[in-house]
Amino acid sequence: MLFELEDLVANVEGTPILRGVNLKVKEGEIHAIMGPNGAGKSTLARVISGHPDYEVEKGSIKLLGANLLALDPAERSHAGLFMSFQYPLEIPGVSNITFLKASLNAHLKARGEDPISDTAFYTLLEEKMELLEVKREFKERNLNEGFSGGEKKRNEILQMALLTPKVAILDETDSGLDIDALRVVSKGVNQLMHAGMGLILITHYQRLLDYIRPDVVHVMIDGKIVQSGDASLALELEEKGYDWLTPEGTDDA
Ligand code: ADP
Ligand code: MG
Repeated sequence: MLFELEDLVANVEGTPILRGVNLKVKEGEIHAIMGPNGAGKSTLARVISGHPDYEVEKGSIKLLGANLLALDPAERSHAGLFMSFQYPLEIPGVSNITFLKASLNAHLKARGEDPISDTAFYTLLEEKMELLEVKREFKERNLNEGFSGGEKKRNEILQMALLTPKVAILDETDSGLDIDALRVVSKGVNQLMHAGMGLILITHYQRLLDYIRPDVVHVMIDGKIVQSGDASLALELEEKGYDWLTPEGTDDA
């Protein structure tokens, strides 16, 4: 199995947020995790990435059989995990290009490979920037500083393109994107997706899934996956909302 969560229970300051999450992602699969605000979707992403605010009480996170819980966030990234956050950080004083090159070199080093030469890096960057229709001035600007929501998202996908992860988790990549930016970002993600990779899209809206077709759709409510299905489940949620899946939801069938 490429990526597997087993009975994942995680707390923040003693309050349980994830209450037993199970998930299996095979190579080549795209999974969507949907659910109302506050369901724990972003928490799941942060727990998987190793964010220190969260205490994992129980369960496991495995990437190609390796136990990610034993690794720090950088090591998880080197193991092939990529995370795009709902609210990417702005880092004034660090140029985008410096950041992208440093993260790629850290990955190469972890794999025991030599750092990439400047020439090779620029060639690679140009190629990926073209793929994602990223503006050239992106390179010189400081990391995410003053970037619009859409630019930040595009920049995250550019980083993903350079790091070639095995598993990528994109948290609300569609939020803040206008329809043209959504198209470009989706096209980029679709081109980066390949048979050896797994993709997990966290999204509130079905709109993104018109552009990136999921194999499996999961619904998370109150820290648990309460329903899974194929892409048609997303359309059903669009139509019916989430209430019918909550314990208090009315069943009008
Ligand atoms: P979603 O992404 O599905 O909207 P979140 O994972 O952001 O949901 O939040 C789930 C719940 O966990 C919310 O009630 C939120 O307030 C709480 N929560 C998440 N992170 C923290 C934190 N660092 N400190 C306190 N509460 C948190
Ligand atoms: Mg969220």
